[in-house]
Amino acid sequence: MSEAGTLIIFGASGDLTKRLLLPGLGSLLGSADDADRKLAADLIVLGTGRSEKSRDEWRDEVRDALDEGGAPGDAVSRLVDRADYVRGDPSEPADLTHILGAAEGIPVLYFALPPSVVEKAVDALAEVDLPDGVIFAMEKPFGDDSETAAKLNAKIAKLVPEHQVHRIDHFLGQPTVLGLLGMRFAGRLLDPVWNAENIESVEIVYDEELALEGRAGYYDTAGALVDMLQSHLLQVLSVVAMEAPGSIDEVDFRGATAQVINATRLWEGDPVLPGTDASSRRARYTAGEIDGRKLPSYVDEDGVDPSNETETLAEMVVQVDTRRWSGVPFILRSGKAIGDARREVVVTFKRPNFVPRGLEAPHRPERLVVGIHPSGFELDLAVNGDQDPFRLDQGTLETEVATPELTQYGEVLRGILSGDPTLSVRADVAEQCWRIVEPVIEAWKAGEVPLDEYTAGSHGPESWTA
Ligand code: NDP
Repeated sequence: MSEAGTLIIFGASGDLTKRLLLPGLGSLLGSADDADRKLAADLIVLGTGRSEKSRDEWRDEVRDALDEGGAPGDAVSRLVDRADYVRGDPSEPADLTHILGAAEGIPVLYFALPPSVVEKAVDALAEVDLPDGVIFAMEKPFGDDSETAAKLNAKIAKLVPEHQVHRIDHFLGQPTVLGLLGMRFAGRLLDPVWNAENIESVEIVYDEELALEGRAGYYDTAGALVDMLQSHLLQVLSVVAMEAPGSIDEVDFRGATAQVINATRLWEGDPVLPGTDASSRRARYTAGEIDGRKLPSYVDEDGVDPSNETETLAEMVVQVDTRRWSGVPFILRSGKAIGDARREVVVTFKRPNFVPRGLEAPHRPERLVVGIHPSGFELDLAVNGDQDPFRLDQGTLETEVATPELTQYGEVLRGILSGDPTLSVRADVAEQCWRIVEPVIEAWKAGEVPLDEYTAGSHGPESWTA
């Protein structure tokens, strides 16, 4: 593995760069780990885009964002003094040649660009001499469907080998998602019961209080299904459901996630199951209030086209067709403008096969709750009741997870800058994730699943709660 010399950011004036990418670099620069710090310390941060920006303006932006990531002042100053901005259009080969000419060492090309621009940039790069070892960092969503994702993969494969391509999913760098690996595979307790014989269902929920926050340009054509379920939540599923990999490396770990994704399909293969709970549901928020903040209806937000019928809450039930998971529903859900939002994986265990006469089991089944945000684990177990030791109650074992010093984008950048793609999405998996959601997208477009409504600040449509 070789280390990167220049981080070229296409889309340097965008939201991702400012809010997540550069603060992530700041967290790497401030890391207590010498090796991590070194990855960032000698880097040239080369911003680029069509926007006019002076070198000093860019350096100020880099400084503010690195400070936000918690990096110490002297290290920030050193990095800022080397940062540069080169104006250019990422879809113009001549501009790309000019930009690459300003790089030193192995360049990382970070595509912080709207998805519609990425393919054009890759086409333009095909006409340019690329330096040896160049690394591609691709954001999600990767393509618009399985066909365009396959096409993009094929184009990229002509330019760089797969181990130099990082398809980012920062949920794979989330502390408890990775923590689950330790809990399952470095202990005796959980893995023996981690199967269809003992588990009733698995819920993977990522709701947020945030509403559109001015991102209609992207979100109104994506919606919750593509923005969250198609990428992040399926990646979380792949870790929850994986077989033990031989090692946590780019071959074994990614192979184990790929095996799960390849075996995953919509519950009973049908987005609309007549006479039963549908295996996909969608809804959109109407005007409401969260934490004293008034929110307009989604359709009244700036830049929203109501005829897109974009959902702000999506739910989909999938099955993993392996011996371990046969018959277990995995419920994936994510929504915006949700009050008291839950962000967690809930593993619900089956009722015991036998309870001795004279013991009264608790009302609720045992559960393991993996908090994605905030991070933590809770395990519900049957314990003696307060009054009568034979009438069992539910007790909860809880543990918090230390907040890691690297942000999720710090973790993403550590992988990219050290040339280790273990926590990035493999080419075939990026295509398969589209294959899983495509029947839902088609059914929704055809109007086969109603677009429900919920008040901003509520838990979702009332009919869903029932
Ligand atoms: P933005 O919409 O903010 O766009 C980023 C930059 O791309 C713009 O500042 C612009 O820079 C450039 N750009 C826009 N249109 C064009 C065009 N037609 N041709 C060339 N360049 C163009 O995107 P984000 O920063 O929000 O997102 C970037 C990527 O990251 C997307 O793939 C997104 O899905 C992903 N992502 C974003 C997250 C977020 O929270 N923002 C979270 C996770 C992933 P200029 O005008 O200077 O050329």
